[in-house]
Formats: sequence, structure tokens, C-alpha cells
Amino acid sequence: MRRMLTLLIVLAMVAMPLATLSGQTRAAGKTLDIYYIDTEGGQATLFVSPAGQTLLVDTGNSGERDLNRILDVLKTAGVTKLDHLWLTHYHGDHYGSMAEIAKRIPVAHFYDHGRSIESDRPNIIAFEKLYPEIIGKSAHTAVKPGDKIAFAGTDVTVVASNSTFLKTPIAKAPGAGRPNPLCASHKPRDESKVDPDNHYSAGFVMQFGAFRTIDLGDLTWSREFELMCPNNPIGTVDLYLTNHHGLDQSGSAAFVHAIHPRVAIMNNGTRKGGAVQTFEILETSPGLEDLWQLHWSYAGAVEHNTPGVKIANLDDAAQLAAIVSGIQTPAPPAGPGGNAAHSPAYYFKVSASTDGSFTVTNSRNGYSKTYAARQ
Ligand SMILES: [Zn+2]
Repeated sequence: MRRMLTLLIVLAMVAMPLATLSGQTRAAGKTLDIYYIDTEGGQATLFVSPAGQTLLVDTGNSGERDLNRILDVLKTAGVTKLDHLWLTHYHGDHYGSMAEIAKRIPVAHFYDHGRSIESDRPNIIAFEKLYPEIIGKSAHTAVKPGDKIAFAGTDVTVVASNSTFLKTPIAKAPGAGRPNPLCASHKPRDESKVDPDNHYSAGFVMQFGAFRTIDLGDLTWSREFELMCPNNPIGTVDLYLTNHHGLDQSGSAAFVHAIHPRVAIMNNGTRKGGAVQTFEILETSPGLEDLWQLHWSYAGAVEHNTPGVKIANLDDAAQLAAIVSGIQTPAPPAGPGGNAAHSPAYYFKVSASTDGSFTVTNSRNGYSKTYAARQ
């Protein structure tokens, strides 16, 4: 009996800090938290609403590496179920770990843009065959522009899907509905080498009080123009996740400058995205206060990469020293997604408040910066 009592006391002591911690988490849950998970040139972004609802946008590449990174962040965020799982489009750097995640954690509702335009490609045929099994008895919606997603405490508007775009301005969004003067100088690009499902990416604007953020997956240069011209239906945003990993197939000035972000987060890999043109458009974006990168970009080199304190994942120090001193070194071996794998991997956490202020934290070095509410 005494042993039993001792055991109970020990158990209570162990359980107490956990209970306190989860209590604190709930009490402090007045922020919208966003985790930008490094999948080395893929996408996996976790949104946790103040009420504890969860939305995962994309699932990185297939394989243990990205799966474990995503599961680690879900654990860190205390997430045990996904209320919403959003697939921007049918490419392996976005749907890669979906099947494995759905095996490990319940998913209530799946979203996508409808059938893939690449349904004749063997990998897409395989995924589209598997996809109904992944969804199982959960809810499923092929979204359309103007649809709203019920993500507690926020207002989520679908602005792009299946190569159709929002034409009615988002209600009460600052600057929405006005003519976009940047359309006049927009130059079309040759998109013959673009994998076509990128054009069909499903994307949304999320508003949490005065804080606004946008995620358009891998939407392309020509489709950004269709969305933003002649009138801007979105208005301005505080936080912009760069379209298409910062590749120069996306991220036009007609889009980026018009949405006037305060902060951009780039989901590039070391050798995917982070294009010079993308950096230059961000560097000249009016009102942009900071760029944060999930990776150092070899294409951007020392001239364009953001200061290291705002980069989550650096290549190894020897590689970087060689770059700075102008010595060429062979590329490290590629992992899934065509990039060198880093272990461990770091993420960014964004905590936003309804007054529009938000804090970005780099999990590699603990560096945080708070962006005060606009006056
Ligand atoms: Zn991609």
C-alpha cells in the first residue's frame, strides 16, 4: 500500500509539470502560430489557431527525412490531430509524406484543387490511385476561389485554385479591389518548361484580426498576373511565403510588390529556389522589412542571401567559407528534392496577434524578431 502511495505521489509529481505546461499553452493560446518546416525545397507549413485547431499545408517529399521533420514539429506544437490537410498541388515535394502522416495522425478534412492536370504521368497516376485510400472516410473538398475554410478564429479565403482566381475583392482587406498599377510593366515569361500542375496550385489568404498572410503553393508567373490584374483582389499582407520556393518561374513584381508584404519567408533549398531574380524583386519590394530563408541559397550567394541569423539551415561551415573565399567546392550529395540533406533541420515559428503584430523565431539559434502592429 505504501509502495502504491509512493508510486502515486511520484506519478503526480511527474504529471504536474506537464499539466502546468499544457495549461500555460492553452492560456497563452491567444496567438496564431505558424511553423515553416524545412523540407529542403518542398513545402510543409503547420498553422495552429488560438483555439488549437490545426491546418497542415503540404507534406514535403516522400521518405523518412521529411516525414520525421514534420512529425517532430507536430510533436513540438503538441498537435495530435489535423483538422485540415491542404494539398496545394500534385507534385512530390508537396504530397510526398501525406500517406505516412495520415497513417500516424487523424486527419479530419482534406483539400486540393481537384484532379491533377498531370494525370498522365506515372508518379501522379500512382498518387491519384492512392489518394482516395489516404482520405478514407474523412471529408474532402476541391476548393474554388471565394470559398471560406472554417479554421477557428481566423478568416481563410481561397484566392486561387485549378487555374481560376478570386475576382471579388476580399471583404475589409486593406487595399483590396483597387487597380494594380504594376500590371502595365509586367513582362510575360516563357513557361514551356514549367510543370503544368504548378499553374493549378490552390492557395489562400488567412486573416487573423489585423494580421494577414498568404500561401499560394507553387503558383506561377502567368497565373500571378491573372490573379492580380487588372485589379488586386487581395490587398496587402503582413507575411508572404514565397511562391514556388523562390524559383524565378514565380514571384513577379506585379504580385509581390502589390501585396506589399512586411516580411517574406522563403521555402528554398540550397540549390532549389532562392533565384537571383526572386531576391532582386524582394529587395525592391516597397515596405519589405525582412526576408527569412529556410536555407542558404547557392544561387543567391553572399550578395543576396539574407543575414545568416535569419537563415534556418546553413550548409556546412567549410562549404560556406569556401564560397566566401571564392574557392569552388564540389556539391554535396543530393537528397530527395535535389538538395543536400541537413541534419538536424530547423524551422521558423511565427506567432501572430490580432493587433497585427507578429514574432518570427529561428529554431536554429533562437533568434527572434517582433514586428510591431502597424499604426
Ligand atoms: Zn514545389
